Amino acid sequence: MTISALKVHVRVNGAATLICPACGAVRNVAAERYRHGRHSITVRCRCRHVYSILLDFRRHYRKKTNLPGTYEILSEGGVGGGIIHIINISRSGLGFTVSGLHRIEKDRHKTSNVGGVAS
Ligand SMILES: [Zn+2]
Repeated sequence: MTISALKVHVRVNGAATLICPACGAVRNVAAERYRHGRHSITVRCRCRHVYSILLDFRRHYRKKTNLPGTYEILSEGGVGGGIIHIINISRSGLGFTVSGLHRIEKDRHKTSNVGGVAS
């Protein structure tokens, strides 16, 4: 039998959410104590299923998402705004698509604020 480890992201507060692959039970664990040790731990669920997880301590975890919202150009000389669709997000930034006419260029680094994001 092969046990493949599930990758679990550890949040900034050191907590990790484990989901049992057998029954779907959600469990939160304090993973901080594993940060400087081994990252692979074995968990026994209340349904008695035993599974392995691999703790991911990466700081900038990029999470796929699907959030519609609006944006506004705040930089000097910029005007307008429009509809934005956020497709992934991490602590260091986000990926998005915009529709309509805009002057946002790809791969251009700029400081911007995104407002009005609906959840
Ligand atoms: Zn379970």
